[in-house]
Amino acid sequence: MIEPYLGNPQRTIAVLQKYDFIFQKKFGQNFLIDTHVLDKIVDAAEITKEDFVLEIGPGIGTLTQYLAFRAREVVAVEIDKSLIPILDDTLSDFENVSVINKDILKVDIAKLAEEKNGGKPIKVVANLPYYITTPIIMGLFENHVPIDSITVMVQKEVADRMQVGPGTKDYGALSLAVQYYAKPYIVANVPPNCFMPRPKIGSAVIRLTRHEHTPVQVKDDKLMFQLIRASFNQRRKTLANGLKNSPLISYTKEEIEQAIADCGFSPTIRGEALRLEDFAQLANRLS
Ligand code: SAM
Repeated sequence: MIEPYLGNPQRTIAVLQKYDFIFQKKFGQNFLIDTHVLDKIVDAAEITKEDFVLEIGPGIGTLTQYLAFRAREVVAVEIDKSLIPILDDTLSDFENVSVINKDILKVDIAKLAEEKNGGKPIKVVANLPYYITTPIIMGLFENHVPIDSITVMVQKEVADRMQVGPGTKDYGALSLAVQYYAKPYIVANVPPNCFMPRPKIGSAVIRLTRHEHTPVQVKDDKLMFQLIRASFNQRRKTLANGLKNSPLISYTKEEIEQAIADCGFSPTIRGEALRLEDFAQLANRLS
């Protein structure tokens, strides 16, 4: 196997020209052209020869080469069929990589982890297509995919959202889901000039390391996430009204008010003031 050779702007341009590639905005295509950033991502993911890595959206295979060089095996899932012949070319010297031409949201990743890694926790690494960052991350956690860590490039503000707690405008369902399942750590902020084409906003690499034990005990985590979603769907309302009006919640007005009181919360509290442990307590009361 040869060393990764894509990663600088000249090589990327040469590949794009060879195949007359046209960027598709709808697929969130911003390819990495900075070797330092690529090194940072694979270092932060702590990839070793033991690891099976899932890459989401390989593009022309730049990050894929870096991953293949370090990992035991890489599977890369790419939606854009015009990238498949390019990937066949750029990854031809890397025998431990396979490419699946599919929408990642339609892939049964738990099954893939079972087949490729005997059901043991996998590492997910990606420069994510920004338009579906949240469904990808939530899907990985909520579908009970065995995950060791997720190391991904996301929009800077989304990385911030994953880290914050109550009392900030960025706090929401994503913050709570990420923090319930994993420990977030921002590895690096990445400016637009590290991509081709340049995105309009800054990006960040974030590593989410799966908790061995969740930080709160919840009898029914599905219910807890329904409460969280219902509360943040109606941010301006009180927690009680948000839950009563939500189609996600089947409890009566009285049951909701009683549970809020039993938890010791004010009847006028808003959902955005609740911490993860508060949502857990409320879910346990209701379930
Ligand atoms: N990994 C490459 C890099 O860093 O240069 C490309 C990253 S680019 C930000 C996102 C990639 O995800 C694109 O190649 C895009 O076609 C692909 N993509 C977009 N939506 C996808 C989906 N639903 N499933 C799989 N891949 C997708």
